[in-house]
Amino acid sequence: MGDLTLVTGAGGFIGGHLVKDLLAKGRPVRAVDIKPKSEWHQVFADADNRIADLREADACAQAVAGTAHVYNLAADMGGMGFIESHKAACMLSVLINTHLLQASVAAGVERYFYGSSACVYAAEHQTSPDVIPLREEDAYPAMPEDGYGWEKLFSERMCRHFTEDFGLDTRVARYHNVYGPFGTFDGGREKAPAAICRKVAEAEILDRPEIEIWGDGKQTRSFTYIDDCIFGTEAIMDSDLAEPVNLGSATLVTIDDLVSIVEEIAGVSLARRYKPDAPTGVRGRNSDNTKLKAALGGWEPSTALRDGLEVTYRWVRDEVRAQRALAVG
Ligand code: NAD
Repeated sequence: MGDLTLVTGAGGFIGGHLVKDLLAKGRPVRAVDIKPKSEWHQVFADADNRIADLREADACAQAVAGTAHVYNLAADMGGMGFIESHKAACMLSVLINTHLLQASVAAGVERYFYGSSACVYAAEHQTSPDVIPLREEDAYPAMPEDGYGWEKLFSERMCRHFTEDFGLDTRVARYHNVYGPFGTFDGGREKAPAAICRKVAEAEILDRPEIEIWGDGKQTRSFTYIDDCIFGTEAIMDSDLAEPVNLGSATLVTIDDLVSIVEEIAGVSLARRYKPDAPTGVRGRNSDNTKLKAALGGWEPSTALRDGLEVTYRWVRDEVRAQRALAVG
């Protein structure tokens, strides 16, 4: 296990946390992202940090050279506000996974991980807030989230066929709404938990007791804390799970619930202004973890939402404060 591991999308949210954890376990890591290092959420001096556009085949060959394990977490993505208005950009991430798979076969990589998404699930299973948790087989017949979800489902399938046709050992996790510190919280790509933490932090800092909520607040999701995501990602990589598997919390909450928890953490009570025409995605979504638990000795994400949000909120509030201080100073 001392072999070199490649993490792509290492300047991003999940990639940054994964690099940190692998290094802490003594694993040599090559960390690659398209962004300049000044924009990475976390940078670790003891990793081999590189900037590259992994949509390019040559860049993938260079990134993969000499590595035994590849975690592909690079994608052009964001929350609903981004993916509903950037469908082609999301689909172009297919180039990253395709060229990385080809490079991995050519370089004799031992095992390859692909970070997929609950957005692969067919819309017909997600029409009610009181949703039945999604089982892996619910992805077919296929009608995933337009753009982003189709790319994820296609790329999952590429992994499967690279295993069948070229013998590359692949693992695929379908992440469900991962949240935590050191991720995007503003600028248009942020997801619901980070956006809500930012809005509550702004309300607290500016003493402006109101919040805008996308949709009617009744849509439901489950939210997975980053530590659970990282533990599960590595456990799936090390497991025998050759088929895509859910990696998500099974605790269903409404967006209104999420806001209430963050308000409580911040010690504020805000007037809610709903924006029904904002992008909200499916009406309800939850993770069925039967397969995950069977493969991982009964383990599933279990960090309490309040505990995870407490850490996330404090981090986002400090970042908002620092930004404001910079803007004023
Ligand atoms: P993120 O946006 O924080 O990280 C993705 C990183 O990929 C970014 O730093 C970006 O610069 C990099 N990237 C984009 N295009 C690239 C390119 N051409 N070459 C090299 N790097 C490139 O996102 P994240 O939340 O860390 O997500 C990681 C993976 O997990 C993605 O594939 C995402 O689709 C998937 N996922 C995440 C969630 C979630 O809730 N965060 C849910 C489902 C799936």
